[in-house]
Amino acid sequence: AKKILEVENLQVSFQTYAGEVQAVRGVSFHLNKGEVLAIVGESGCGKSVTAQTIMRLIPSPPSVIKNGSIKFDESVEITTLSEKRMQKIRGSEMGMIFQDPMTSLNPTMTVGNQIAESLIKHQGMSKKQARERAIEILKLVGISNPEGRVKQYPHEMSGGMRQRIMIAIALACSPKLLIADEPTTALDVTIQAQIIELMQKLQEKTDSSIILITHDLGVVADMAHRVVVMYAGKIVEDGTVDDIFYRSRHPYTWGLLKSVPRLDTENKSELVPIPGTPPDLFAPPKGCPFAARCPYAMDICLEEFPDNFEINTGHHAACWLNHPQAPKVDRPEGLGE
Ligand code: SF4
Ligand code: MG
Repeated sequence: AKKILEVENLQVSFQTYAGEVQAVRGVSFHLNKGEVLAIVGESGCGKSVTAQTIMRLIPSPPSVIKNGSIKFDESVEITTLSEKRMQKIRGSEMGMIFQDPMTSLNPTMTVGNQIAESLIKHQGMSKKQARERAIEILKLVGISNPEGRVKQYPHEMSGGMRQRIMIAIALACSPKLLIADEPTTALDVTIQAQIIELMQKLQEKTDSSIILITHDLGVVADMAHRVVVMYAGKIVEDGTVDDIFYRSRHPYTWGLLKSVPRLDTENKSELVPIPGTPPDLFAPPKGCPFAARCPYAMDICLEEFPDNFEINTGHHAACWLNHPQAPKVDRPEGLGE
């Protein structure tokens, strides 16, 4: 399969008055064409920083890419690209959908003009062509009366509708890569389900390649093909959706599955939060970053960062429990499947 994105040993830090925060600590993954890859983890795990680094949206300083490579569309090295070329790629070859459309939509411009603007800028359409295409795209994202809606401003619309507009803008230029960072978090549950359904339909229809950043495993189960689980700036497990939901081999993933509400389950009473907090990324521990919260932690976990054990083809877990000599621990029951 064609690799739309290949991230190798990515390290990103933030320079602060208090010192250097190691937000992303050597992350490697890839995205095939037509694939939806979910990156999951608690807030502060580095998932958003990874996404924003791929689009080069974080100013430097304070952020610094310390090491690694981000290869886009098999040829473009993103980490060293000039800002000028990056601007061309953003909005035409890469699109992004954020959590809160209000902060990314322009409040002083009609939504029709906002969609048209990117088509004129990136695809060289005439005003008239862009206007017609904007109406088509609004239809595509399920907005009724698009001819009337193009004349409206973001504040005249509901949260769900604004998110549809964001998706419309992101899709307007048919980007090769779409990054959705918590696309439904700010919406109520019914609207969340509608937006996910919309994204899923559009993904299938256009065979787009999507990176979905979320802490919501319900969204993951519905939309993603593969999953990367991040903790404290590292990937701790990766595999197919089924690997992660039914065969996961990392205690942090088990904790996530038990602690996070899912859209498709009504029963929220059995949610068990993971006790404790993630480690301080000013001075990350030398061993397993999850050791302080892990009920299975062994001596070696405090001393050495775990190897990335291959569980099966395409399924890896960075946890010492997968060492052949480790005590046998069964995956807990009732993880929500
Ligand atoms: Fe727990 Fe050790 Fe596995 Fe880390 S390596 S998740 S501390 S068992
Ligand atoms: Mg985030």
